[in-house]
Amino acid sequence: MRIAGHLMEVSEPIQCPFCGQSFELLIDTSLPLQQLTTDCEICCRPFEVSVECEPGQVLNLEVESE
Ligand SMILES: [Zn+2]
Repeated sequence: MRIAGHLMEVSEPIQCPFCGQSFELLIDTSLPLQQLTTDCEICCRPFEVSVECEPGQVLNLEVESE
């Protein structure tokens, strides 16, 4: 099965470990396992997110909080 490029990106709600606010993160699901750093849209602090994907959907998403 082939999925068109733009469908490989999905947005998932995540919660900031610092301020607790939820916002949407755009994830490229063409990578099965990824670790990315994102900035919170609300408090602008950077944090790490680990994502497990299959093409077109996110299977698991974990926010790394120290
Ligand atoms: Zn925040």
